Amino acid sequence: MRDLDGWSRPPVDDDPLAETHDETDAENTPLMRLLREVSRSRGLEIRKPVQGRRVTRVEALAVVRQKAESEMPRAVMVAQGELMRALGVVPVDYDYVGGVYHLLSENLAGFYDQSEDVLFLLDDIRDRAMRETVVHELVHALQDQHYDLEALLAYQPGKGDALTASHALCEGDAMAASMEIMQGSPHQLRPEVLLGQMLHAVGSRAEPPPEILQRSLVMPYVDGMRFVQALHRRGGWRAVDAAYARRPASTEQLLHLDKYDADEAPLDVADVKLLDGYQALDRDAMGEQALRIYLDQWAPGLAPAAAAGWGGDRYAVMQSASKDAYAVALVVRMDTEADAVELEEAVHEPGTGALPPIHGKPVTCVERADLGPLVLLRRGVDLALVAGPYRATSPPQAAASCPEALTYAESLLAP
Ligand SMILES: [Zn+2]
Repeated sequence: MRDLDGWSRPPVDDDPLAETHDETDAENTPLMRLLREVSRSRGLEIRKPVQGRRVTRVEALAVVRQKAESEMPRAVMVAQGELMRALGVVPVDYDYVGGVYHLLSENLAGFYDQSEDVLFLLDDIRDRAMRETVVHELVHALQDQHYDLEALLAYQPGKGDALTASHALCEGDAMAASMEIMQGSPHQLRPEVLLGQMLHAVGSRAEPPPEILQRSLVMPYVDGMRFVQALHRRGGWRAVDAAYARRPASTEQLLHLDKYDADEAPLDVADVKLLDGYQALDRDAMGEQALRIYLDQWAPGLAPAAAAGWGGDRYAVMQSASKDAYAVALVVRMDTEADAVELEEAVHEPGTGALPPIHGKPVTCVERADLGPLVLLRRGVDLALVAGPYRATSPPQAAASCPEALTYAESLLAP
């Protein structure tokens, strides 16, 4: 679990990672005293001690990078970048992988390494932010002792949406629990206020990344906190503990407590059929939360409502056999036809949508000289969005045009 810095920082505190002079008293380090406070407040007993380590920003990033690369196939990360490029939400020449690490290097405050049981704190984090970070990471340490974070957050091909929901549960729990310790109540901060503060912190760094990356970084904390606060309001920390025994199966459940309570499973959507001559770089479900994050770029006012009818989806990021071209296809199944129309309208939002009307006329496909065709088709409750193919030159170059892309999109929708 790696965490961000920077949404509050008034007064000065003692250093919870300070060395104790009495080395015989491992139970009485400032870190262990703080762990006992966290344990009492969060209601999770300590099963083993936690060690703390201060690291430089460069050292921390190296550890985070090495862990990320050992945990998730690189192709999956490359595919995330191509998905954003193909759908036009990052600049066409954007270096996504480099951008993600840059974003982390600027915003990382600390992290808990669940494979080594060590809490890392960045050595330039001070004062209140330091205590806040250490408390947050100690909640992760207790989560790990009780719920085995390494297993819970392990990458599994095709299970991205469920994993995102579990990650948000852990972050929301750590946010709410640290708020109780720092401010007396887990309900001290409203999720909308946290969202504003975190986006402001991340967006005001020297070289802020595209907005979609900023949102992708902060939404697990915000949506996770809203979910955990709602559970806590109903049944205190025991209700939050119960959510680890039955985790939200999707971000749809994370975003809608009634769907979590009803254990509403995502609708079945078949794997996306690939373009001829292409292989899958990644195939997965996008989920309601990520759909909402994309829609935030296209129709900000409509995004939460337009994504809320999400029932299920599958996407594929494809690479040509010669590895020099990419294409993206997404099939979303909405709960009702009215929901599907609402999503369609958000993608067609005048001015900001991915496919805005041209001279007031609706458009189902647009030719892009760099990224190739972009198509949206709807049939009943299903929508197919196709982007590309494009050759991965610099800048990219369209590798097909609308008639081919429309035929392919048609083939993705059940008759
Ligand atoms: Zn965290």
